[in-house]
Amino acid sequence: MKKLLTMALALVLVLSCVTVFASCTGGNGDEKGTTADTNAATDTTQDTDAPAEKKVLKMATNAYFKPYEYYEGEKIIGIDAEIAQAIADKLGMTLEIVDMEFDTIITAVNAGSVDFGMAGMTVTEDRLKEVDFTVSYAKGVQAIIVKEDSPITSDSDLFAEGATWKAGVQQGTTGDTYASDDLGEDRVTRYNNGNNAVLALLGGSVDCVIIDNEPAKALVAANEGLKILETPYADEDYAICVKKGNTELLEQINNAIVELIGDGTIDSIIAKYIK
Ligand code: GLN
Repeated sequence: MKKLLTMALALVLVLSCVTVFASCTGGNGDEKGTTADTNAATDTTQDTDAPAEKKVLKMATNAYFKPYEYYEGEKIIGIDAEIAQAIADKLGMTLEIVDMEFDTIITAVNAGSVDFGMAGMTVTEDRLKEVDFTVSYAKGVQAIIVKEDSPITSDSDLFAEGATWKAGVQQGTTGDTYASDDLGEDRVTRYNNGNNAVLALLGGSVDCVIIDNEPAKALVAANEGLKILETPYADEDYAICVKKGNTELLEQINNAIVELIGDGTIDSIIAKYIK
């Protein structure tokens, strides 16, 4: 069911991608681009050195989602931060990244306090009612983390009839939605980030954590005694969200993404973080 849904969404994204390709004039905005400066891009404070005429493009994210967005010292780095910088360069704008709870990003986008949301955010039917999504720039997979010696060996153990396993999730994520639907609300505990969910797993309050695969790998690498089940849970498409009806920005970002996919920039950014 979930696979069908994500396949349908993927189809919509591919079709919109084709439309963007068709309308893309090619190279627009390139000339305005500055040399990518990831450090400037990831500065969470206003860049006072920016030329006055450059507009600020504000991105909302939740910077506890390695390798997509995470802190290195004071700076937010990662796949999304670098792709966002490449987009801002194409648009001739200065990128500013604002860190917030994942489940407040869509509200901030719709309130206009930020221009777009980018946080390894999956395109879902529910979110499409609230915001507009760009073409997809990456794939995601929901994974299940358990303790190394866990009796849960596959997703069918977790979802078995009569089973009582408890799952930890990150509040407001697709992992939260899927787990709540499939296990029932009373078997799901919500945490404000994946790290806290993993601490709960290590402490024995939950039996597994359902979270996106790459952050899952980073969490397993950072904490001893954990593993990821070989049976992935759901396939997803990541995209950037903008305020519903902001077609101008949507089109600008779409054109930039298509160019950045076309020239291999996005692939090389992803390859830098995911070996
Ligand atoms: N891909 C998941 C979602 O969109 C999780 C994103 C996140 O936690 N940053 O819900």
